[in-house]
Amino acid sequence: MPRRQPLGQHFLTDARVIDQIIDHIAAEDSDSIIEIGPGKGALTEKLFDLARDFKAVELDQKLVAYLKAGLPDVQVIHADVLKVDAGLFIGRRVVGNLPYEISTPLLMRLIAIPGIVDMVFMLQLEVANRLVAKPGSSDWSRLSCMIQYHCETALLFSVDAGSFAPPPQVQSAVVQLKPRKSQLSLRDPDAYAETVRMAFTQRRKTLRNSLKQLAIDWSTTPIDSSQRADQTNIADFVAIANRISN
Ligand code: SAM
Repeated sequence: MPRRQPLGQHFLTDARVIDQIIDHIAAEDSDSIIEIGPGKGALTEKLFDLARDFKAVELDQKLVAYLKAGLPDVQVIHADVLKVDAGLFIGRRVVGNLPYEISTPLLMRLIAIPGIVDMVFMLQLEVANRLVAKPGSSDWSRLSCMIQYHCETALLFSVDAGSFAPPPQVQSAVVQLKPRKSQLSLRDPDAYAETVRMAFTQRRKTLRNSLKQLAIDWSTTPIDSSQRADQTNIADFVAIANRISN
């Protein structure tokens, strides 16, 4: 029976999956890369070879020592990726087989950092599906709206639990997130986040009901207030957020 590992330590052991990730990354300009959670280095040496400038951030001191012994030229920063200086990510591609327990707070942190080139992550399939979902689907969620406001997302391929040691309890997938070059104009990002949060807290209710507290005069908006959060697209959430932050 697969067990939960501390720090999400499910190490990639499937050479085919490792090559698929590396091939995908190599297909685009890879000047500067930062790897999150290099672990025992399944991806690290190949990423290091691809990049002109490479760093990795690992929280587990034992793994930092292991990597430094095996790959002395690689710069491994011993730190919590949720707390490292945001400047580390600017101008870089961010890659990692993420610890699934922190994937949502990490994604929320990274999308708020301007200047990231792109991100290629192994994630829990369920989370990956939400990142790429479309309005009207059962996976369309608060996370979809937060991430897709900032990034274009693509699911590259799914990965079986047997590709890791020890195997996780869930299926996984590799996704790519590319910051959008142009975004819908949002007056107040906090108002957008709060609107989306409130709407999805009661995702089966109409917007008129779930957003009652915002006291919106729907008759003066082009938005159909009888639609539910799970049918509402990003442009409509932006329009609502802009209305309440007027
Ligand atoms: N990249 C390796 C691989 O594919 O085999 C390891 C991936 S494993 C799923 C996740 C890695 O992230 C582990 O090495 C773990 O120690 C590290 N990690 C967990 N939490 C972290 C955090 N907050 N900051 C940095 N690294 C973390």
